[in-house]
Amino acid sequence: MKGAIRVFARFRPLGRSEREAGDSVVLSQVDAFTVDLRRPDHKDSRNFQFDSVFGQGSTQDEVFTECRDLVQSAVDGYNVTIFAYGQTGAGKTHTMYGSKEDPGLAPRSIQTLFDMINRETQRGGKAFKVKAYMVEVYKQDILDLLTDPPQKGQKAPSLQVKKDVGRGIMYVEGVTERPVSTPQELKALLVEGERKRHVAATKMNDCSSRSHLMLSIIIECTVKDTEQVRYGKITLCDLAGSERPKKSEVSGEALKETIEINKSLTCLGDVIEALTKGDKSIPYRNHKLTMLMQDSLGGSAKTLMFVNCSPARSNTEETLMSLKWASRARQVTNDVKKNADSKEVARLKQVITLMSQAQNVQEE
Ligand code: ADP
Ligand code: MG
Repeated sequence: MKGAIRVFARFRPLGRSEREAGDSVVLSQVDAFTVDLRRPDHKDSRNFQFDSVFGQGSTQDEVFTECRDLVQSAVDGYNVTIFAYGQTGAGKTHTMYGSKEDPGLAPRSIQTLFDMINRETQRGGKAFKVKAYMVEVYKQDILDLLTDPPQKGQKAPSLQVKKDVGRGIMYVEGVTERPVSTPQELKALLVEGERKRHVAATKMNDCSSRSHLMLSIIIECTVKDTEQVRYGKITLCDLAGSERPKKSEVSGEALKETIEINKSLTCLGDVIEALTKGDKSIPYRNHKLTMLMQDSLGGSAKTLMFVNCSPARSNTEETLMSLKWASRARQVTNDVKKNADSKEVARLKQVITLMSQAQNVQEE
């Protein structure tokens, strides 16, 4: 999938409070690639196609299975980005990080990454070093999440994005890059960074994330015979909520945050659109978020975007916006030939979906 952007849609089950409030489900999975959004108020329904659709019964393991090849790509020296887009409460953090009981993409990728590296090391001929940094993009600032928070009354320094010509990657000047040698160390780093993430209460979700969270893992591989060094990088990004200001009824600082978040997501959409159209100049420099992603979007980078959606009727308009936004990115893959086996894959995925639905019915 060189140069392509893959888009996966995932929607969650109704939450408890939604069920209690009598909310209904308006999203459904048509087949392995298609999601249907019903708009009861407009008496219409729209289908959206993606490279894969994960319905409410999908497991973290099923999702990771379709991402595993990207971890291998990073080990092989590619720049890989996986990011999650969607309104607050749609399931971005669940997909990217998950919980201790039900880990998501980041912990699974970390484990698999070290398994792959260990296997290649045992085969001989190669030596690996792994480093990671974690930042959040809050409004226009890039903040280091692996350093001590500033003293009271002081502002944390905003970092700058620079290009490392030698390594062919973007880097954040002065960021804490931690060497790690085990999956446990890297997972601990994740917990440390997550704890420092900027959160503010909004009406929509009491601890909704108002910043973009980015974990970048750099994999340095030295081929022993030639002393040749190559770098791969995997970036996992949990974007801030994409909701419009109106919905969360925020004002003051929170409103400013929302406006800034929308601006950054629009810049990200513009970059993706320019890539889909094959434009010569890609507007990476319009926002720090896209500058950070510059080496991981377009070129030979491999990008996977999740559009996370709420299935609830009360979120219909936000869901429509998200699906439309994601469809814009999806055009990049229009020319990419689908795997010859895709029909068979689609059939098997449908069987799995039906089986899990049947299981859910039994459990109820
Ligand atoms: P976001 O990060 O987009 O704001 P979260 O990932 O925090 O949303 O999800 C909101 C709530 O929904 C959480 O309680 C989470 O556990 C739950 N949830 C999200 N996705 C799923 C899913 N696929 N299956 C079950 N529960 C989910
Ligand atoms: Mg979240």
